[in-house]
Amino acid sequence: MRSPNQFQFDLKLSQAVLNTFSTQIAIVDRTGYITAINQPWKTNRELSLLNRDAVVGDSYFSLWLKNVAKDSDRSCINSLDRAIAEILNRQRNDFKLEYVYGNGSNKNWFSIHLEKFQDADSPKVMIAQTKITEYKQMESCLRSIAEGTAAATGNEFFYSLVYHLTRALGVNYALVTECLRGDIPMVRTLAFWCKDDFGQNYEYKLAHTPCQRVINGLPCHYPRNIQKIFPQDADFAKFNAESYVGVPLLNSSGQVLGHLAIISENPIEDGSLELAILKIFASRAAAELERKRVEEQLIHDALHDSLTGLPNRSLFSDHLTHALKKYRRNSNDKFAVLFLDLDRFKVINDSLGHTFGDLLLVTISQRIQAYLRESDILARLGGDEFAILIDDIECISNATRLAERIQASLKLPFCLGTHEVFTSVSIGIAISDSSSDSAEKLLRNADIAMYKAKALGKTRYELFNDTLHVQVVNRLQLETDFRRALDRGEIKLYYQPIISLSDNKVKGFEALARWQHPQKGLVCPGDFIPLAEETGAIVTLGWWILQEACYQLREWQVSFNNPALTMGVNFSQKQLSQPFMTESLVQILETTGLAADSLRLEITESMLMDNTEATMKTLEQLRALGVQLDLDDFGTGYSSLSYLRSLPIDALKIDRSFVQNLDRKDKNNKIVEAIVMMAKSLGLKVIAEGIETEKQLAALRGLQCVYGQGYLFSCPLHHQSLKLWLDRWNY
Ligand code: C2E
Ligand code: CA
Ligand code: CA
Repeated sequence: MRSPNQFQFDLKLSQAVLNTFSTQIAIVDRTGYITAINQPWKTNRELSLLNRDAVVGDSYFSLWLKNVAKDSDRSCINSLDRAIAEILNRQRNDFKLEYVYGNGSNKNWFSIHLEKFQDADSPKVMIAQTKITEYKQMESCLRSIAEGTAAATGNEFFYSLVYHLTRALGVNYALVTECLRGDIPMVRTLAFWCKDDFGQNYEYKLAHTPCQRVINGLPCHYPRNIQKIFPQDADFAKFNAESYVGVPLLNSSGQVLGHLAIISENPIEDGSLELAILKIFASRAAAELERKRVEEQLIHDALHDSLTGLPNRSLFSDHLTHALKKYRRNSNDKFAVLFLDLDRFKVINDSLGHTFGDLLLVTISQRIQAYLRESDILARLGGDEFAILIDDIECISNATRLAERIQASLKLPFCLGTHEVFTSVSIGIAISDSSSDSAEKLLRNADIAMYKAKALGKTRYELFNDTLHVQVVNRLQLETDFRRALDRGEIKLYYQPIISLSDNKVKGFEALARWQHPQKGLVCPGDFIPLAEETGAIVTLGWWILQEACYQLREWQVSFNNPALTMGVNFSQKQLSQPFMTESLVQILETTGLAADSLRLEITESMLMDNTEATMKTLEQLRALGVQLDLDDFGTGYSSLSYLRSLPIDALKIDRSFVQNLDRKDKNNKIVEAIVMMAKSLGLKVIAEGIETEKQLAALRGLQCVYGQGYLFSCPLHHQSLKLWLDRWNY
């Protein structure tokens, strides 16, 4: 049992509780009378369907304004009456209704909520009214912006966002920005709505603007007088601005990427709606911005070299295409392409390791960059290859001078950690001309010129021209074909007899390689031996030649019953420096059954100069076996007499250029004479190469040159033809 006092106390308490709500609340009992009305009900100044004069003890009908003008208001009241009756009759538990009241600036949205509650044992109804205008506004703003921007992504999203923001919030300006990297805090607009249209995007410094606070992470609302608060922000005066609301764009890890702001020519007194809306769209904008950055990064990565950050081949080719288009429109817009290839990069990379190799590439790219203008493009094409596009050149010397300066700068040592490294670069240059029809072709031309620069001894530059192209194409084709030549048995040995000049007897032969090319016919060794040397194929080829020549000689020694016949075999540097070189040679002699002293290896001066100690050792070993060593092409190198004395050789082969001048009466006669004399004094035999005329032969005989070879006796012949020749030759 509750005492009357207790009841009184409960009533007072519930009244006090009710008064704490800002919502307007009234309670109606089961007999339809009002038992409580809270303070907000009585004092609320917003015009609505509620009758503020209703008092406790009245019938609930008095809660409503009865003199409403609009039919919709009347139908609202009818619904409420019906619902209250139903709740009191236990036919329903609650009821909700939303309506608009008033017009113009006094128009508001309300929601009325009826809820049954059980007090003692009789049901009562609580009537609660809340003004939901802001909520409704926000909802419609959100809906209009969300609908307006839903389909858009990337830049399109930013544009549609600022547009719909100004529409929905009734402001004049809206902008979304991204932060720029750099020392001075700056942003760039991604989209900017300026009164009636999109404005040009622009960059601005943050100092002395409200945006600075926003970019520091604080949402800001300046309801009025923005020009006075930020007098140094010239834009506000230009915009005739009064108020400002801005929020930061934060990514998932809380980093500020940019900001979203609205500016109005009118005050924005209560900025809560604007702030709430901006915040909601700021997170979408941040996500878009982040996505845009990832996309941009992907595009950047696809077009740049990750090590040096330079444009890669693909981007370079784009720039080149662009320059070519410009040149075609106006032939004064000349440009040049430089193709750079480091000369010893592989050696450095292999000896110091990839980390230092990478470091060198980065340092080199920086060094080159220092010689370029802003408009020039330096790209890394891959490995140790770089390319430069120089625009707007006047003449070729603009390009060649740049090449010279780069070459000079790359010759200076590089300090990589504790290592001091030297490198140099070969450069090919192609200039825009009327025949340059594609970027690829231009780059290839520069590459060809670079190839030529390398072939001519590296650390130099070459300009592209058309003959160069033909040469390189032929050479490349030959290189491809040559790879299969040995396997397909296309390499043949020809033999040229070497004659004893005193008695015209055949002393021996020189084996000379020929390539029976399926299309080109017979290819001379001058065209493929250097190729074989470069590719390393000379090693396999060399052993094959040696073995073949040894077999052949052994056969002739037997068939002509003349074991004194010898075979001269040309030897390359690469073969000489092979590991187990002497062992392999011994094996060949054993399998062919040839005596070591039947073999004469022909070596050149340059081979002796290059690699003295190791080479000397090998040569001594060969001689110890009994193999004879001939110094080929003598006279074309630099050997001094005293140097010759120290060499482990048996004979000199006088280069044919001296022999061929023997029938002319000039000083060459003296040179050959001097060579023969000198050789005699050193105990060396002399073999004269390239004897073509009787006159030359007579001169050589006069000089008491011991051996000779040349077309006068026979040109190099295939073994079958040589056999026939031998049969006819009286020896
Ligand atoms: P080389 O060793 O000085 O060979 C002599 C060259 O002179 C040969 O050219 C030969 O055909 C040519 N010759 C011979 N008699 C006369 C003549 O009376 N007049 C003229 N004008 N030339 C004559 P070939 O065969 O074209 O060889 C060129 C070079 O290729 C050789 O010069 C040699 O250095 C290299 N070579 C040839 N075969 C081989 C080989 O099997 N291995 C290596 N490593 N090099 C080879
Ligand atoms: Ca030779
Ligand atoms: Ca020679």
